[in-house]
Amino acid sequence: MAMDAHFDADNLKFCSPVINVKQFLEDAYEEQRSMEAKLGLISVKNTENDEAEGSSEDDDVRNRFKEFLKNKNVYGDQEESVTAAEQVIERIDRGTEQMFNSTPLTDYPFTGYVHNTEFAVHKEQEHRREYAEKHNRKFLNSVFRRRLKYAFYEPSELERDYCLGKRPMKDILVTVHIMRPSNKWHSKGDRVRPVKAEYKYVVRGETTLHELRDKFICSADFCTMVPDHEDATESSVYHVEQYPSNFLFIHDTFYLDMRKPNAKDIAQVVREFMHRNKPEFGVTHVADMEGVKIKDLVFRLGFPYNYTHQGSCEHLFQFTDLRLMNAQDEERIFDYPFKVFDISKIPKCAACKMNTPAFVVQNSDRLPDTLMLMCNVCFKTFHYENDKPVGKFNAYHYFCPQ
Ligand SMILES: [Zn+2]
Ligand SMILES: [Zn+2]
Repeated sequence: MAMDAHFDADNLKFCSPVINVKQFLEDAYEEQRSMEAKLGLISVKNTENDEAEGSSEDDDVRNRFKEFLKNKNVYGDQEESVTAAEQVIERIDRGTEQMFNSTPLTDYPFTGYVHNTEFAVHKEQEHRREYAEKHNRKFLNSVFRRRLKYAFYEPSELERDYCLGKRPMKDILVTVHIMRPSNKWHSKGDRVRPVKAEYKYVVRGETTLHELRDKFICSADFCTMVPDHEDATESSVYHVEQYPSNFLFIHDTFYLDMRKPNAKDIAQVVREFMHRNKPEFGVTHVADMEGVKIKDLVFRLGFPYNYTHQGSCEHLFQFTDLRLMNAQDEERIFDYPFKVFDISKIPKCAACKMNTPAFVVQNSDRLPDTLMLMCNVCFKTFHYENDKPVGKFNAYHYFCPQ
């Protein structure tokens, strides 16, 4: 339950019901196999005693076509029938492959509109087409395109290879949206901008939570308390080494990352708070992230979950697009989490706006903000004269993670 009652999750339009991923995999795979059997794409006996991975000879529609011609003895001789079937199969396979390779889908940008329809999406498209024609076509390429689901996806995710007779693995894929941090404290009347994804990763059911957690990159991990005039070349002085405790909170469970010897359970205070307010949050659980995979999770699609590190630095994330793997998906587990979307901005020096920052400058009496990132050159030029500090300031070494 956890945050479900607090947000009234059952009545939120953008949330799915609670999904047990392992159960989803079994149910969806079973449904897919039974659909394929009904369509004659696989043999019925294969659906009954199905192995998790790997193609079966019986599953290939080509073999079944060969068998069909052989049994019917179409060419008067069984051997000749098989040869004829093989020739047909080869011709179709070669032709289809040539067609896919010579006319990739990316050569055909979206141009069509559906008219006279009741669907809201089509009506919206029609409305936008009229608007674009009336004003200028740039509208289509900017605002409209930006709102499309795959507008900023990596091209590699949208281009797929043509897979000849390949059986997909029995596993799920789900997209994880890591949201852009928002540190603004909204006051009443402010226009609240929607929280947007900064990164999107596709993960497999076999992907571990450690692998997912390592995709959360935050500058809070790469600060130090080493002043600018001291040496900070040792990695042990950075916060990521000094305070490695972190957790992922998914549905009703706090998954702790205890890989580092000095990691602690920083979720305990949150659990105690939730325990004191049990009617609102229900029972919560705690588990070590070690060995836990995506397929072991229970979650709602579209619901915000939380990654917390450095004490109280919180990052929202959500799961969407849960589906079975298909033949075109990458199978190698080490390719996951697979980045499909990235609109992150690399931090730049606040002065020159060009170089990578190397110092966090605090409480400087000559800078407009209480905290600013500066590159080595700008910092030294602005705050030192003949190796002597100018004005009052506190500056600490910083390592840019991107
Ligand atoms: Zn953070
Ligand atoms: Zn600079």
